[in-house]
Amino acid sequence: MKRGDAFSVKKLPAQLRESLPAVYVDDWLVSIKYFVDEEESHLKIQEDELCARCEDKPCLYFCPVNVYTLGSDGRIQVAYQACVECGSCRVGCPYDNIEWKLPRGGYGVAYKFG
Ligand code: SF4
Ligand code: SF4
Repeated sequence: MKRGDAFSVKKLPAQLRESLPAVYVDDWLVSIKYFVDEEESHLKIQEDELCARCEDKPCLYFCPVNVYTLGSDGRIQVAYQACVECGSCRVGCPYDNIEWKLPRGGYGVAYKFG
């Protein structure tokens, strides 16, 4: 898989694919309710310069809902509205370059179970 390619389980080697549990993120996403804060993002790239030097750009892969994408200007775009608050980007960025906080009170995702 080349950098910038969209991730797909089908592209993984067969042995790895068969070892994965039968969990599909899309199935879980339908159970989420979003209360989007249109005025303030709770996610922020701190320094674009650092991203430019970040060779593997893991943020393009670890986010389960593809919040981070590479813009045509080469900068990382942040679609914070889709964030499901899993917290992966707090630990996944090798340069600690993503400012992450919970959405303001009353905003964010609500999970319903059962
Ligand atoms: S992983 Fe971090 S430093 Fe690298 S491109 Fe993404 S946000 Fe920037
Ligand atoms: S907290 Fe999770 S869902 Fe939200 S942007 Fe980070 S990796 Fe994506």
